[in-house]
Amino acid sequence: MTALALLGGDPVRSAPFEPLNTIGEEERQAVDEVMRSGMLSGFVGGMSREFHGGPKVRQCEEIVAARVGARHSVSLNSASTALQTAIAAAEVEPGDEVIVPPYTMSATATAVVLNNAIPVFVDVEDVTFGLDPAAVEAAITPQTAVILVVHLFGHPARMGELLEIADRHGLLVIEDAAQSIGATWNDRQTSAIGNLGVLSLNRHKIIQTGEGGFVVTDDDRAAAVARMVRNHGELVAGCYGPEEIHNTLGSNFRLGELEAAIAIEQLRKLDDLLAHRRALAAELTSRLSGWSALIPPTVMPDCTHSYYVYAVRYNAEQLDGIPRAVFARALRAEGIPVTEGYVKPLYLLPMYQQRIAYGRRGCPWTCGHWRGTVSYEQGICPTTERLYQHELLLFDVCRQPLTTRDIADVADAIEKVVELAPSLLELSADER
Ligand SMILES: *Cc1c(COP(=O)(O)O)cnc(C)c1O
Repeated sequence: MTALALLGGDPVRSAPFEPLNTIGEEERQAVDEVMRSGMLSGFVGGMSREFHGGPKVRQCEEIVAARVGARHSVSLNSASTALQTAIAAAEVEPGDEVIVPPYTMSATATAVVLNNAIPVFVDVEDVTFGLDPAAVEAAITPQTAVILVVHLFGHPARMGELLEIADRHGLLVIEDAAQSIGATWNDRQTSAIGNLGVLSLNRHKIIQTGEGGFVVTDDDRAAAVARMVRNHGELVAGCYGPEEIHNTLGSNFRLGELEAAIAIEQLRKLDDLLAHRRALAAELTSRLSGWSALIPPTVMPDCTHSYYVYAVRYNAEQLDGIPRAVFARALRAEGIPVTEGYVKPLYLLPMYQQRIAYGRRGCPWTCGHWRGTVSYEQGICPTTERLYQHELLLFDVCRQPLTTRDIADVADAIEKVVELAPSLLELSADER
């Protein structure tokens, strides 16, 4: 074995890893068909048959509803607007508290603030990386309305315990399944397990239309509200949909026909794309098992994983105390892309630290409908902070168009860095 590339040896890999691209001839033809029709959107705001969008929009919604096993699916122009819509459709009131993990894309928590409600950040646990049920239970107050669950990296959160807690306290469960399309808990598709769920079609996700998302639900009223929030609901309130009009004011969160046509083709490919991710992940996990310094992703017995990200826990103590940053730098020098830590815990963002969202006067935290207290101090979610600062190494290699050869390079490079780790000790001393 040559020396570590970081210390002047030859790298395991010199070729770059091909970028993700799931778009092919099928999508090009589907787009061309819509282009020839000249109708790039079928939506009209206001009472009419076109309130629900064009033929491609309605077709992709039917496919998604059937796929996840929900009565209703509502397409939107992103998962971020889908989350905002789902919270309105869950009948959240200004000043209600929504429990949300801090280890997720910012949009998950911002969707709460956009409904004048209060995000209460609750820690994740370090096996599934989803909400810690015991911590959720401890955070519930009389003002809690919703548990907003995130299936981080594509593995389901602990839905059994979380549903039981929600049930006992009369709370709704919304699932942010932006990263977990196709992942299951007890043979149920994530997004369709709780009261409402959200999927993403953003370009980084498992299937994509550039931008796009869905709300799915079995609840008729929630679906009607979601359709109103998507499409200027105030215009139809009182004549369409639910009798009570709260939370039905809307905007334009509509998906275009081009994106919907692409979504239909992407949904056809979903099972193959997932099978590919799972095969590569199984290969990598079998190569990584056996070192105490690296813990590959766990798949709980009642779950399947979509492997949006292949997340490894790094334990420096088991590797001569080499800090994660040095280990990651050594891997990158071997030609392997790896990122450290995922996102900063959301409560550390200026919006929460300064409680400045709408205007300068501290709304929604000062808005009178909320009479609780909440902490956004450093330290409130110790597991999240530990994963962020010290443990997580994220690999974006279990995906199309990469192959088992690419996975072999990743595993060979990890093996090399682990075995030659003592040679990193001097660098590590500088780091500390
Ligand atoms: C990507 C993502 C979102 C936002 O999705 P968009 O479609 O880009 O708006 C929300 N939540 C999570 C967990 C995500 O990964």
